[in-house]
Amino acid sequence: MKKVLQVNDLHVSFRTYGGEVKAVRGVTFDLNKGETLAIVGESGCGKSVTSQSIMRLIPNPPGRIVSGSILFKDKDLTKVSEPEMRKIRGADISMIFQDPMTALNPTITVGEQIIEGIRQHKKVTAAEAKNAAVDMLDLVGIPSPEARLKQYPHQFSGGMRQRIVIAMALVCQPEVLIADEPTTALDVTIQAQILELFRDIQEKTGVSIILITHDLGVVAQVADRIAVMYAGKIVETGSRREIFYNPQHPYTRGLLRSVPRLDIEGADLVPIGGSPPDLFSPPAGCPFAARCEYAMDVCDRVYPSETRLSSNHQVDCWLQDERAKKLMAAMN
Ligand code: SF4
Ligand code: MG
Repeated sequence: MKKVLQVNDLHVSFRTYGGEVKAVRGVTFDLNKGETLAIVGESGCGKSVTSQSIMRLIPNPPGRIVSGSILFKDKDLTKVSEPEMRKIRGADISMIFQDPMTALNPTITVGEQIIEGIRQHKKVTAAEAKNAAVDMLDLVGIPSPEARLKQYPHQFSGGMRQRIVIAMALVCQPEVLIADEPTTALDVTIQAQILELFRDIQEKTGVSIILITHDLGVVAQVADRIAVMYAGKIVETGSRREIFYNPQHPYTRGLLRSVPRLDIEGADLVPIGGSPPDLFSPPAGCPFAARCEYAMDVCDRVYPSETRLSSNHQVDCWLQDERAKKLMAAMN
């Protein structure tokens, strides 16, 4: 499978009055051509910071990419110049956010906004740009696209506005689309339609998608693979099937127990007790230890490095690591 993006050992920190917050602490993952990779976790786990790092949108100061690399088309995005990054944003890697209104200018017609987006990155005539805009609105399922190009954002419903934002993000045919909580602001029916749209455009365009969400329901609908993030680290990665039916990290299991599931009737929802560690001074060992019912001595002291369970299922947990027994014997 062709890899379009490779994030290696990424560390991102933010300087605050209270000290340095280590928001992302050694994140590594690949994005394959044409797949949807979901990055899932509670708020503050570092998932949005990871995606903003890929776009190089971390405000510096106070934030900074401390180390690691982000490889895209033989370039390390942590090192390219700002002008070069500006060309990549939108044209090669696009991003959409939770609230479509923040991405749209209320005083300009949607047609002008989409056309402007095209002309920023491509040398095309006005007529070509307009045609491309019509095609794009059609692709994202907006009826009578030609007429609607002349309308303003407030003339569309919330779901339609998010479709327009998706059209704008895709209009230059990027290889990667990053969607950060793209359906969180929408009601459930519209949410399902937008998720369906992601599948549809992926089939038609082959775009690779990174979907950032706290919502496992969203993940279940569209993700091919899932990376579970906790306290600035990816603690488990697997195919959708592996994560939902064979989760191995106690945090992943906790997340699954804390959301309503359609496939297990009458299952009780169990929230995960406790709270994530302070990222000013993250624990040396497993960051989930204080909340984990299986925690052992070794968990507090040493971080469990990745254990490979299958070709695409990895977990950072001592329960799965054969070296745990030896380490514990040495400790006693
Ligand atoms: Fe729990 Fe230990 Fe696994 Fe962390 S490493 S999740 S504390 S068992
Ligand atoms: Mg976020």
